Amino acid sequence: MRSVLISGASIAGPATAYWLQRAGFTVTVVERAPAVRGGGYPIDVRGTAVEVVRRMGLLPELLKVQTDSRHLTFLGPDGGTVAVLDPHAVAGSVAGRDLEVRRGDLAAGLYGLVRDQVEFRFGDAVETVVQTGTGAEVTFMSGQRRTFDLVVGADGMHSQTRHRSFGPEEHFHRYLGYCFALFTVPNTYGMHRELTMWNAPGQAAALYAVGERRDELQAFLTFHQPQMPTGALRDRKAQRDLVERAFAGAGWEVPVLLTALRGADDLFFDTAAQIRMPHWSRGRVVLVGDAAYAPSFLTGQGTSLALVGAYLLAYALDAEPDIDRALVDYEHRMRPFVTANQALVNNGAATLFPVTEKALHQRNARLQKLISMPTPAPRPAHSAVQLPDFGVRA
Ligand SMILES: Cc1cc2nc3c(=O)[nH]c(=O)nc-3n(C[C@H](O)[C@H](O)[C@H](O)COP(=O)(O)OP(=O)(O)OC[C@H]3O[C@@H](n4cnc5c(N)ncnc54)[C@H](O)[C@@H]3O)c2cc1C
Repeated sequence: MRSVLISGASIAGPATAYWLQRAGFTVTVVERAPAVRGGGYPIDVRGTAVEVVRRMGLLPELLKVQTDSRHLTFLGPDGGTVAVLDPHAVAGSVAGRDLEVRRGDLAAGLYGLVRDQVEFRFGDAVETVVQTGTGAEVTFMSGQRRTFDLVVGADGMHSQTRHRSFGPEEHFHRYLGYCFALFTVPNTYGMHRELTMWNAPGQAAALYAVGERRDELQAFLTFHQPQMPTGALRDRKAQRDLVERAFAGAGWEVPVLLTALRGADDLFFDTAAQIRMPHWSRGRVVLVGDAAYAPSFLTGQGTSLALVGAYLLAYALDAEPDIDRALVDYEHRMRPFVTANQALVNNGAATLFPVTEKALHQRNARLQKLISMPTPAPRPAHSAVQLPDFGVRA
């Protein structure tokens, strides 16, 4: 029995754990949070990733909790309506096939599949990893020491596993020219299963009534910031100040949202960025999900990459007994899919967040055309990978 330690219990971690334990590996998952975090912002599962969750038997459960947003209203700088659209028309996703669920609902579903088969160490983290050539000796923050055949870093965009084994984040972090703040506000607008997005050049504010929740909204402020605000990344006050400066004088409900931001206790601030690495494994440490190839929220494909990456990594380890060769195979199969999806956005050129007045006019004209064209073709990148059949019964 080969043993694997997975760091991170969000999407990529439990998905990798599921497939590896089905293939006969002994799996331990370490997660620094005290439990799997629920709720939160909505994420998409599209194209090939839908097939992955179907093979896991999770699709019926996800269909029950999908957010099922009915419409997406775009507003111009003066707050006037630009277009009201079917959300699928904008995301390039397929109605009746692709899913949108809360991130926490997917994480909880994945955890539920493996909680009884896999050892979970919540509230702990890896402190050191020493590679031995045939495995890795791991020391946990809690003080325990264990040896594993393989360590999988599924610990997200700001992965410590990556930092420890591959080098500092700035070597792999590709800033895309936007920052965002996400927080919860009371639903004083009577919104239900809908998203409203206000845009001005270089600025966007969105209110999202997710699923059945009628009491709260996810508020989302995105702004163009040509230089990465490195100093603000770990400083809450600097983040709030930066957002306030970026939206000074903005219209619609933005002043109300800025006041709410000041008092928000769940503020999540980050840059829109990608992780780009020449290789995803080094010795007996391998990365999966955002840790290896975050495509940024601008693509809406992070979760799908994490699910497909988990499947292909476990498939390669099951099919090829030599771990080093298996890790090469994982990368070989996964790389084109990652490249196609990371190419969906460029610096400062995200479709939903135009930075100049001209680009905003053009974007609005495109949205208005979509009103009379409700079923655009799905994006080829969402399905640009073959899923091999797993040896284990799915
Ligand atoms: C605002 C926002 C909107 C998004 N919208 C979409 C969308 O519409 N569609 C989409 O597909 N994707 C979206 N994403 C991206 C999506 O959330 C991620 O791509 C996806 O969650 C990746 O999963 P992951 O498991 O690789 O990483 P994460 O979800 O980041 O999970 C990492 C896990 O590792 C844990 N961890 C971190 N450090 C350690 C450590 N040192 N030790 C142990 N555990 C650790 C964390 O607590 C966490 O549980 C969005 C992201 C954001 C921030």
